[in-house]
Amino acid sequence: MRIQRGQFAAPITALMVAGIGCVARPEAGHTAAASASQEISRPDSMRPEETEVWEPEPEVVTSEADGVPPSDAVVLFDGTDLSGWVHEDGSEPRWHVGNGVMTVSPGTGSIRTRQGFGDVQLHIEWRTPAEIVGDGQDRGNSGIYFMERYEVQVLDSYDNRTYSNGQAGSIYKQHIPLVNASRAPGVWQSYDVVFIAPRFAADETLASPAYMTVFHNGVLIQNHVELQGPTLYIGVPQYEAHGDRAPLLLQDHGNPVSFRNIWIRELSATAR
Ligand code: MG
Repeated sequence: MRIQRGQFAAPITALMVAGIGCVARPEAGHTAAASASQEISRPDSMRPEETEVWEPEPEVVTSEADGVPPSDAVVLFDGTDLSGWVHEDGSEPRWHVGNGVMTVSPGTGSIRTRQGFGDVQLHIEWRTPAEIVGDGQDRGNSGIYFMERYEVQVLDSYDNRTYSNGQAGSIYKQHIPLVNASRAPGVWQSYDVVFIAPRFAADETLASPAYMTVFHNGVLIQNHVELQGPTLYIGVPQYEAHGDRAPLLLQDHGNPVSFRNIWIRELSATAR
C-alpha cells in the first residue's frame, strides 16, 4: 500500500495515531514504529533490485599487460612493416622502418591508414630526435590527424617555447593542453586519445561537433574538448560535412620523428 502525503486530509490525525503516514519527530526517538511508518510514507520507496540493470552484458576484452594492445584493438603498427599504411596520395609509403620503429623520412609526405575510422580510442608512442635541431615549430614536429582532419600536435615541447595552442598535446590552433607533460628529446612518449567524430545532418549541416580527450604520458591534457572544425594553419576553422569514417594520418612536417606501438579501438555509438 502506498500512502501519498496530503492525500487523506481528514484522516491524517488518525493515521498518525496509528503510526502510519507520519514523519517521526526527533523527540519521538527511533522506535520500530517510527521507522516502519517512515518507510510506508515514502512514495519513492524502491527495492535494490529495481535499479539493477543486467543487459547488455559488457563484452570481455583482455588486456594482458601495459604496452600490449587489448584483444579487440586494431593494430596499426606492430614494428614490422607499413602494410596498414599508404602515402597520403595513395601510393606506397616511403617512411623508414627498422628496430621496431617507423620514422618520418622528411620530405616524402604524410602517411595514412588504409582503413577508415570514426569514434575511436587510440594509443600511439612517439619520439622526437635526440639531437636538437631548430626551434619552436621546427623542432620535432609531426602530428596525428583523426579522420585526416583533426590534429593532435606532436612536437618537441621540452624547453622549447612556441605558441601555446601549437605545442605538444595541443589540438592545433584550437585547444591549449592543460599542462606540459613533455619528456626530453630522444625519450619515448605516449598519447592515449578518445576521439568522437562529428555528426552531420542529411542537409550536411553540423549535427554535433567532434570531441577529444588526450592523455600525454598518462597525464590528462585535454578533457573532452569540443573542436571548432578541421585543423587549419591559417584562418578560422569551419566544419564541412564528411563521411562517418576516414583514415588516421601521421604528418611529415620535415622532422625525423619516430612512432611505435600504434593501436586503435573502434567505439560503438553508445560510447558517445
Ligand atoms: Mg604538426
